[in-house]
Amino acid sequence: MNSNFTKVTTDRLICPACRHKNRRENKYCTNCGEGLDNSAEIGPCLTILTKEGSSVIFQLQKGKNTIGRNIKNTIVINDDHISNFHATVLFEKGQSKIIDLGSRNGVYLNGKKVRKSALLKDGHLIKLGSTFLRFESTRENEIIKKVS
Ligand SMILES: [Zn+2]
Repeated sequence: MNSNFTKVTTDRLICPACRHKNRRENKYCTNCGEGLDNSAEIGPCLTILTKEGSSVIFQLQKGKNTIGRNIKNTIVINDDHISNFHATVLFEKGQSKIIDLGSRNGVYLNGKKVRKSALLKDGHLIKLGSTFLRFESTRENEIIKKVS
């Protein structure tokens, strides 16, 4: 696992602009000043299921989210069976699509090989190399559940 992962921990709010981890109660990012969205739901997420049994949640950014071994990717996964630039998840107009970037071992969605691209639906299981990722179209942001 690479340290470039953005972890959405239960007590942190990720800044959409700079991806700084803020305290949940913050209205503005302490790093760049961007307004933080404390709405009930945050956008689509990919949960990377590690071999060790833990999971890393990555909140998709608008537009292209590239996945691969190369450190220039948005999501870097250290897996020998993953290509340097393996796939892109395109998040636009409220939809997420996975695109195979001509990877060596392909992209699998719920066990079926993706031909070029496929629309992602909530709960879909993506397999890249020997790594599994679960797609969630929305994720509840627990911040508003707090009784003030
Ligand atoms: Zn920020």
